[in-house]
Order: sequence, then structure tokens, then C-alpha cells
Amino acid sequence: GEEARSPHVVLFPFLAHGHIPAFLRLAGHLQTLRPGLAVTLVSTPRLLGSLSLPATSPPIRLHALPFAPADHGLPDGAESLADLHVHQFITLFRASESLRPAFDGFVAGIRPPVCVIADSFFAWTADVARARGASHAVFLPGGAFGHAVFFSVWEHLPHTLTAGGDEFPLLPDFPDVVLHRTQIPQYMLAATGADPWTAFFRRVIPCCRKTDAVLVNTVQELETSGLDMLRASFGVQTWAIGPILAAPDPSKSQDDDDTSIIRWLDAHPRRSVLYISFGSQNSISIRQMAELALGLEASGRPFVWAVRPPVGFDPKDGFDPGWLPAGFEDRMARAGRGLVVRGWAPQARILAHPSTGAFLTHCGWNSILESLRHGVPLLGWPVGAEQFFNAMVVVAWGVCVEVARGNLESSAVESGEVAEAVGAVMGETEKGEAMRRKAGEIARAMAAAWEGPAGSSAASLERFLRCVEASALRDSCLGA
Ligand code: UDP
Repeated sequence: GEEARSPHVVLFPFLAHGHIPAFLRLAGHLQTLRPGLAVTLVSTPRLLGSLSLPATSPPIRLHALPFAPADHGLPDGAESLADLHVHQFITLFRASESLRPAFDGFVAGIRPPVCVIADSFFAWTADVARARGASHAVFLPGGAFGHAVFFSVWEHLPHTLTAGGDEFPLLPDFPDVVLHRTQIPQYMLAATGADPWTAFFRRVIPCCRKTDAVLVNTVQELETSGLDMLRASFGVQTWAIGPILAAPDPSKSQDDDDTSIIRWLDAHPRRSVLYISFGSQNSISIRQMAELALGLEASGRPFVWAVRPPVGFDPKDGFDPGWLPAGFEDRMARAGRGLVVRGWAPQARILAHPSTGAFLTHCGWNSILESLRHGVPLLGWPVGAEQFFNAMVVVAWGVCVEVARGNLESSAVESGEVAEAVGAVMGETEKGEAMRRKAGEIARAMAAAWEGPAGSSAASLERFLRCVEASALRDSCLGA
């Protein structure tokens, strides 16, 4: 009967703070479309233990997979990107493949039909799903263009492609995409083919081609060509089901630090404050922090800056005032000019606040979506991974000025340029007006994608579920 056809959805997000919430929100959307849908979230014991789950019906079940990172050369107890320096990420990526037998055992033990929705880094789960008769989808919490270009660069490394000077060679699959050398993260440029990163991606990308479908946290109307690129690259049905967004967390509203940040914003005029953050994993160099600080001061505009430890400092170290120019924090605080947030900021609430007028961001995809949903324009400072390509998307949309690029010693940035860019985006200039107008248009397109069953993302997720229910995800639904 009907009930027997409702799938058990198994979510397998990557082992990073930033990735799990998007999967949980996707589960929320699935349960809205199919009340009573069973959902299990699979992860490592400690990550599951530290989660605060949304209240859903039925509750999301958790399944912990045993993970022995020490066996793979990771520090004892390390289970997620948050525990590690960037140079150790690849060790975690490789170690995560050891979860395969345990995952297979888990899938074999649940009642069919099963639909596995996994992170692209866990695309090896496609083989497991196929062997167990389950449907399989890869969910990309990021954007379509950013992912397509990121995978393509990895696929065509090492330098079978060589070009001189600053131009990066054209990608054979996307000859229209012109990249600059500064848009390629250093570890990608340095990849020889014999390095662990290349080896890892050479396993991941073919696995992605074995999935039945790709779900992307973007909007069809906004990223049409990026979605076509992904579709061409993976050769499977690709659905835009975004934006899958974080709601400002009401359980946190009692938090004293958060409340004082919101009060600070309350005291400032509409759209006057610049918010600055480099996301949950990235940061800039101490030298760049100094230039940014002086640039903010010179801009004359109020700001809230979520400060993470600079490059080379342990992410677990406490805040050190020595990271910032002498007296900066006090000077800004006394004048009511700027607020330095030591560590985690309530970003979704800050961006939702009417006093926030622009966001200087590392161009992580969640940050981009969280800002544009409120029509807040961007200053881009991409530092790694696909952030450089995300920046290209928002610059093309006309809602971002790229203020700097990269966090290496060689990536110079000057305070004067920062101040000028802040003025251009936040000021009553023609450029500023145009950016705010465009950002408003994007906000409306994002809302429309989830407005009623006819919204493009709502309709795509519904079609996805129907294909899963008909056990026809791989074949019958191409072109749906
Ligand atoms: N975030 C936050 N407070 C912080 C830093 C980050 O709430 O101080 C949240 C932010 O709202 C977003 C996520 O962490 O939802 C960062 O995701 P994004 O894709 O922008 O970047 P990543 O951290 O994955 O590089």
C-alpha cells in the first residue's frame, strides 16, 4: 500500500559543523512534503552528541558510526573539521572512507525502500546504496557554479594544463569560464597528481557520477547555467532545491553575548552597519587583519566583526587582543563605532537585523544565501576552496564587490582599498543603490522558489520524492 512506499531517508552529511545543519533543514522540507517521513542522520558519535536537533515529527533518528581517527594519523578524539588545522583536513577526508563497512551494515538493516542523501565527499555511499537496492542522491549545500568549477579544476589537475602568467588555463569542459591564478587555492596550484588531495578527488568525482541524482542548495532561476554545468559534468538529474536556509535560532535568544550584539545593532540606523565574517573554518593572515582593521576605521562606518584566530593560530586558542592593531578594539568600542565579536557570532540574526547594511564575507555559500535573502549586498573576500568561484557568481549578479582575494602572505590588501570598497557598497552612490536594488531582486527570487507548491524549489523537491517513491530516481526522471 501507500505506506510501504514511503522511503526511509538516510542523511550522511560531511563531518563539519557547517554541513550538518543544511542536511537537517533539507530533512525538514522533506517532512513538510511527506508528513511522517522517517529520517535518520548518520555521523560520528561525538558530532551526533553535540547536535541540537530541531523538533520534528517523527523525530529525526540518529545513528552513530564507529570512527577510529587515531588509526588514520589524526589527533586522538578528532572527528570533524573543527578539530583540525586546514592541512589535516585531507587526513580526515581519507579517514572518513573507513566508515564504509559500518554504513553498509546500517543500510542493510533498515526496512526498504531506503533513500540515501549524502555529501559529495561521501559519494562512495552510491555503491553501497546500489548494492542494497536503495536510491541515492548527493546533496550539495553549496552553489552550482562553484561546485562545477571546483570539481573541474581538480579533475584537470595536475598541470596537464599549463598557461603562463596570471591566466589559469581554460577548463576543457567549461571553456567560457576564465579564471585567474589568484582564484585557485594554493594547494590546488601545488597539486602534482601524486599528492593526497588529487588522489582523494580522483576517487570522489567518479563516485559522484554513480549517484542517481544531485540536489543543489540553489535556485533554478538564479543559477541556470551553473546547474547546466553540473548536469553536464555528472551526467545525472540535477535539481535546485534551495535556498535551504538557517532560521535565526530562537533558543539562543537568551544568550547574553548574542543579546548584547543585537542591542548594539538596535542602537544604529537602518542599513548602516557592516558585518564581517570569514565563516566557520577560514581566516585571514594577521597582516591582513591589521589592514582590514585600519580600513574599517578609515571607512567611518559602524561594523560588527566576528574575529577568528588568524592563519597559523590554533582554532581552539582563545581570543588574543594582539591579533588586532594596538588599541583598536577599545577605540572602536568607546566610540560606538565597532564591535569585535570574539568567536562565534549569531550570524543569521545579525543579517536579519534592519541595521545591517552590507556583509564582508569569505563567500561561503551559506553566508551568501543568508545575506541575500535579506537583500544585504556583499563585499567579497574569498580565501579558499570554491569561495573564489562563488564570488564570481555574486559579482555577476551585481550584488558584490570583490575587495580582496586569498589569505597568503603574497595576497596583499591595503586599508585604503578596504575603506573605498566599503564606501562604494554602503554609500549613497549609484553603484551602492544598484547593488541594493539587485540584492532585493535576488531576495524575492529566493523567497519565490519556496512560495507554494509552484515555487521552483518546492516543485523540484516534490518531483524528486515522487521519483524516489517510484524507485525510478536514476532512469525515468531524467528531464523531469
Ligand atoms: N556562522 C555563524 N557564526 C559565525 C560564523 C559562521 O553563525 O561566527 C554560520 C553562518 O551563519 C553560516 C555558516 O556558519 O550558516 C558558515 O557557512 P558558510 O557556507 O558561509 O561557510 P563555511 O564556514 O562553510 O566556510
